[in-house]
Amino acid sequence: MNTPRPSPKITRSKPRRAYWNEPTLGWYEKAFIFEILRGLGITGRVFFSNMGKWLTGRKGALTAYYPEEIRADYSPNNRGRHVLTTRPNGEVQCVACNLCATVCPAYCIEIVAAPNRAEPAHPKGPVRFEIDYSRCIFCGYCVEACPEDAIRMAKEVPTLPGFDRDDMWGKVDMLKGWQPASDPKKPYPAADAAQAAGTP
Ligand code: SF4
Ligand code: SF4
Repeated sequence: MNTPRPSPKITRSKPRRAYWNEPTLGWYEKAFIFEILRGLGITGRVFFSNMGKWLTGRKGALTAYYPEEIRADYSPNNRGRHVLTTRPNGEVQCVACNLCATVCPAYCIEIVAAPNRAEPAHPKGPVRFEIDYSRCIFCGYCVEACPEDAIRMAKEVPTLPGFDRDDMWGKVDMLKGWQPASDPKKPYPAADAAQAAGTP
């Protein structure tokens, strides 16, 4: 017959160290009802504050059902979709220097450069300029890095939803669809001069 072995006695010279936070709930927290009421008070305050803003037409309480609706209250400084600025002759200002693609932290700009014989002053240009909007974080570094003011960001957001991943690539024709001369904050001198002279 096996007799149970006595368990060894552990003697500690120091008390066991506590690796957790001891619960510190007092009677107030343990009652829960007061904290529930406090939470409801915060929720109610935010709700009525937003309702007040909505009733008075102020910013902060509007919900846009994207993509069917687009917010109308973007800040003028919002970094939205990219635009490639163009020269008066309609060609993009970009000289395919690749600085924007180099500085882009998301590696989402792809440029293929080619010689542009028709423009002696700008002998290189992009035959392919694409931005992968599925990776872009709208940081604006590309705009900062460009030495030619060839890329800007308009306040409107890109219309991205589609059924194909290819729809998330911003290509030259799409990125060209904004004339810098219409930007009152940062006019494009050459285009303005051409317009003033009456040339297209
Ligand atoms: S906004 Fe930022 S992440 Fe987007 S393309 Fe420009 S540098 Fe890249
Ligand atoms: S957009 Fe500007 S920085 Fe980017 S390749 Fe063109 S000229 Fe260079």
